[in-house]
Amino acid sequence: MKLNSKFLLSALVFGSGISTFSSVKAEDRALHNVPKATASRFPITDRIWPENPGDADVCIWKDDKLGAVTVTIDDDQAGQIDWWVEQGEMYGYRFTWFIITNWVGNKGVGGKWEQFQEVVKKGHDVQSHTVSHLSDKELDIADEYRMSKQIIEEHIPGHPVTTVAYPGGGQSHRNNHDAAARYFIAARGTSAVINKVNRMDYMSVSSVSGQFVFNNPGTWADLGHMIERTRQKSLYRGWYCAHFHNLKPKNRDHVVKAFDYLKSHEDTFWVGLFREVAMYAQERDTAEVATKIMSPAQIALSLRDRMDDTIYDFPLTVKVRLPDDWQAAIAGQNQRQIECTVAEHEGAKFALVQAVPDAGTVYLRKN
Ligand SMILES: [Zn+2]
Repeated sequence: MKLNSKFLLSALVFGSGISTFSSVKAEDRALHNVPKATASRFPITDRIWPENPGDADVCIWKDDKLGAVTVTIDDDQAGQIDWWVEQGEMYGYRFTWFIITNWVGNKGVGGKWEQFQEVVKKGHDVQSHTVSHLSDKELDIADEYRMSKQIIEEHIPGHPVTTVAYPGGGQSHRNNHDAAARYFIAARGTSAVINKVNRMDYMSVSSVSGQFVFNNPGTWADLGHMIERTRQKSLYRGWYCAHFHNLKPKNRDHVVKAFDYLKSHEDTFWVGLFREVAMYAQERDTAEVATKIMSPAQIALSLRDRMDDTIYDFPLTVKVRLPDDWQAAIAGQNQRQIECTVAEHEGAKFALVQAVPDAGTVYLRKN
């Protein structure tokens, strides 16, 4: 059995020193959050092309993209929902609204629940920016987190709220990472840098204020840092989160330019929801893939992670080297066909399979 794991390299992060997945304690297989990094969790590599037929590797990002980008909008901003939705449709991107729940239906910019139900229907996301932006002194910080999650989930049934953006401004000192970690799998923090892929702090994900500098070529906020290794090595393959507030029409040009840039580098950037990127990254950080069967017509893999399966159900992209005589492959997991595409690299074929960790053996068949 051939093991491949980013996690094995990161055993120290968990302080356990364990050497195989099977010796992980049951409670450590249901983590709510990956603990803060005390060292790099894995080396930052270029795309990996497994060497022998049947070898598998969990891609750093979905679809083997080089970097991840999330676009988030704070403080409800009801008047601008239509513009963002239009951009989403035009470019094929999905965005995350972090909303202040007690502004909805009240304050001018707060908007209506129907608007937020509609954006979720269109594939975007609505997550927590607390109940009152921490201005209500009667609510303690745990209430702000817990109640906002509950209120959004009540108004948008079937829609999970698992992430929060910490409010800035005068009350920002009230934010509490430990309290937030009880309710959320990740939080958007307040420092403005590109997140390093191998030492992310999931309860304080850094975010660039996109208001004026969403992709500023030649500066620290340049999206190119994530896809060109020759620049700042530690930012290569990182996660670029941008956040917006009241984006006035006269300040939109640079945002459109950034979308054009991302679109023209579609093979290299994954533009996703904040919640999805947070799930993917933590599943990946703790994932272990092993080849169980390698026969002429079938490959079987086990794919596990250490995250709580009731929340973390986002598929990881697993790259599998195919035998030379396979033209194509079909993949399945848990009695269902799953997405599988085939890529070629230096004359060899590789399947990119979208599989959920801990959701059953992954099978590939010659096609
Ligand atoms: Zn805010």
